[in-house]
Amino acid sequence: MLSGKWLFRAEETMKKKRFWRISIGVYSELLLLSAVALVLWAVAVHNDAYEQLHDFIEAHEALELDEVLVGLICAGLMGFVFAVRRMNDFRREARFRRSAETQASWTAVHDALTGLPNRRFLEQHAVQMIAERGGMQCHAVLAIDLDGFKRVNDLIGHDGGDALLADIAQRLRRLFPDDIVVRLGGDEFVVICKIAPALQLTVRAEEIISNLSRPVAIKGVHVEIGACVGIAAPSDRQVATLKDLLLRADYALYSGKKAGRGCAMHYDPAMDGAMSGRAKLEQQLRRAVRQKAIVPHYQPLIDLETGDVRGFEVLARWEPAPGQFIPPDEFIQIADDIGIIIELSENLLRRACTDALNWPAHLKIAFNVAPSMMGDRLLAHRILTILADTGLSPRQLEIEVTESALVRDLDTATAVINSLRKEGVTFALDDFGTGYSSLSQLSNLTFDYIKIDRAFVEAVGKDRKRMKIVKSIIALADGLDIPTTAEGIERPEQLAQLKSLDCKFGQGYLFARPMTFTEASGFLQNAAAPEGVAQMKQA
Ligand code: C2E
Ligand code: CA
Ligand code: CA
Repeated sequence: MLSGKWLFRAEETMKKKRFWRISIGVYSELLLLSAVALVLWAVAVHNDAYEQLHDFIEAHEALELDEVLVGLICAGLMGFVFAVRRMNDFRREARFRRSAETQASWTAVHDALTGLPNRRFLEQHAVQMIAERGGMQCHAVLAIDLDGFKRVNDLIGHDGGDALLADIAQRLRRLFPDDIVVRLGGDEFVVICKIAPALQLTVRAEEIISNLSRPVAIKGVHVEIGACVGIAAPSDRQVATLKDLLLRADYALYSGKKAGRGCAMHYDPAMDGAMSGRAKLEQQLRRAVRQKAIVPHYQPLIDLETGDVRGFEVLARWEPAPGQFIPPDEFIQIADDIGIIIELSENLLRRACTDALNWPAHLKIAFNVAPSMMGDRLLAHRILTILADTGLSPRQLEIEVTESALVRDLDTATAVINSLRKEGVTFALDDFGTGYSSLSQLSNLTFDYIKIDRAFVEAVGKDRKRMKIVKSIIALADGLDIPTTAEGIERPEQLAQLKSLDCKFGQGYLFARPMTFTEASGFLQNAAAPEGVAQMKQA
């Protein structure tokens, strides 16, 4: 791998230099000692020192100077052997330290999972490396983000996800053997490639997309993902830094992702405005959460047989400016990305519990929990604290979770569900039919309700195939003694069909849209009035 080799070479040269500096120091000391010994020996030979010494020893037999001399010679020899051995130890230790240091600095700038250089490499070494390869003006940046990786990760678990990422890294390396391929983190990669006269960046980006979209078998499961690529190349008029190009490729990628899966997009200066829009939105959202400006709205859950209201689903609403509406799926995702989802959800739940105290005690509030929150071991504690603070009975609370929330971290999700169910909180499996592993989740966990996703309900009375799916979901749930709720009922004929299929509960614009607390309270009064019940039954 190019960057690995490059880095290794640079580090090697540096360390070799240091090693030789120390070695030369030690060797020169030894050499000096040897030179002194040689001079002493030469002086001794020149002055017949041996004969004089011999005569002296014989004259002073009583002092046993010959033994002392032998002792001194032995000590000298042993000292020499010791010095040589120390020298060898020193060399071995230096070699060991050199390889450990190289290994440590390699690890610091490479990703352990894929072996690709990481973000730190990009910050610390990439500029120098690019300079050695001809400078930024002959390089382009391709920012890559995988499509659907989260879902696949949920499906095959984290080990499988890791294996997939390692495979993706190999494919990118093979596609760009002479360029810099970096894993930024998660499912984001960057390629910094040299621009050749005949090189078409769009073609290269499309190559990446088609290569990464090839299905692969991981842990016996056939997985398929896609990719989007943002392209940024230096323009003729402006000298761009690596940082500029990385940012532009990121803008292009972000716009490409919005356009849909498998998209390759070139950077356009007009994207700058849109990006600062997202930053502004994040800032507004942080403020709205802090000021508790995001409020719950309520959509009734209706018993299809009796027309009675069973409860309300709590749906978050945010109006940043009068008349401006941002859909919850959008801001919930942003809140999740920027780490304020728990604060947002706690505010909403607290408010909804307080509102629910004003309604009859047999009514439930159904609260959506974001998938990332089901991996929070403190979730049960957080929810029970809010219930205790507000005084709402746990029996009045229902939690809606999606299937993908469960496969992320099944152990934690199971623990959360079990401890809340023990207190009387019920659980509904949301958006059923759209996620993965539906059947295994159903057999492993206890759900009180199953919500059939709107995509299937929409097709009731229109599309025979999807209608059959609805029929089998209801039959399956019935076999497990779990009542079903159909989401998004809009037309009377849908309602009639669902009733005929024995779907127990329903929700949708046909009954009511999500409403404010005051409107929902009015709706309850109206539904309780004899004519209201009659209307509901007719619907
Ligand atoms: P969801 O949980 O599937 O909620 C049902 C969505 O279907 C709501 O969209 C609701 O307004 C819409 N809906 C209900 N009846 C009909 C109908 O007859 N026709 C049509 N076309 N739509 C109908 P909404 O409020 O835009 O929420 C979208 C998603 O955002 C929700 O899907 C849920 O996943 C998420 N969400 C909303 N509020 C929260 C929240 O407080 N926390 C979390 N974690 N997610 C939330
Ligand atoms: Ca829901
Ligand atoms: Ca739903």
